[in-house]
Amino acid sequence: MTGERPGERRTALVTGGGSGIGRAIALRLAEDGFATAVLDLDTEAAERVAEEARQKGHEAVAFGGVDVSDRPQVDDAVRRVRETLGGPALVLVNNAGVSATQGFLKITDESWNRIMAVNLNGPFYFCQAVVPGMKDAGWGRIVNISSSSAQSGQQYMAHYVASKAGLIGLTKSLALELGPAGITVNTIPPGFVDTPMLRDSEERGLLGGSVSHHAELTPVRRAGRPEDIAAACSFLVSEEAGYVTGQVIGVNGGRNT
Ligand code: NAP
Repeated sequence: MTGERPGERRTALVTGGGSGIGRAIALRLAEDGFATAVLDLDTEAAERVAEEARQKGHEAVAFGGVDVSDRPQVDDAVRRVRETLGGPALVLVNNAGVSATQGFLKITDESWNRIMAVNLNGPFYFCQAVVPGMKDAGWGRIVNISSSSAQSGQQYMAHYVASKAGLIGLTKSLALELGPAGITVNTIPPGFVDTPMLRDSEERGLLGGSVSHHAELTPVRRAGRPEDIAAACSFLVSEEAGYVTGQVIGVNGGRNT
């Protein structure tokens, strides 16, 4: 169990925990022994995931209807997590994200701003909301879920890629600033993970081939599973990962090296 040391119980907060990668991370951290807050815009999805964890005997509470792009909602959610779970969030996983596909010249201000608001402002707000509690505890773990597309670039997704590249920059800078306070900050850029987001892109013909076609072109010959990302996240938030910070830990089947 990594979420607990003698006389101590730790709280983990996962944004976008109702679906895909966030769901797998929330379930894994609950299994690891963290009192886990499952945050999502979708209230029912968050509740389903928290209930799934509780059914397995783990501690998890849903916080639905939270839009990560809205600072007052973020501050309120972080306060409620602390009150409900009996301690500040010492683990933060910024996973909630949205994607969009548009040719560069067709990207509107509205689309650009929405992508930035969710994918970059959201993690900024959450980090500012939880870091004071981590500093008081002298311990914290932040994992930002970015994207392999920010390593390689991706046509027709300039806004999404820019937001995720910004998240990598935020990660590296915070790692330098927060290391002395006992807080590590890392990013996992997933690549080609089989989730509702990926299947939606497949259905809309945006992948340039089916998921199974791309799986055949992937060095490990399969698509990623949300649990692959959750396993890396579990390590990064553990006690033994205390010397790992400011890192970009790719989990992508070898598609990006
Ligand atoms: P997903 O299945 O669509 O899950 C994303 C979750 O985030 C959904 O539950 C969604 O809720 C929630 N969310 C979206 N906007 C939100 C907001 N403003 N406030 C709170 N929650 C919000 O996607 P996924 O594939 O698991 O992606 C998870 C993360 O991994 C994202 O940051 C994504 O960019 C990143 N990623 C995924 C892949 C991949 O291959 N799947 C690759 C690279 C990066 P709703 O359903 O209500 O919108």
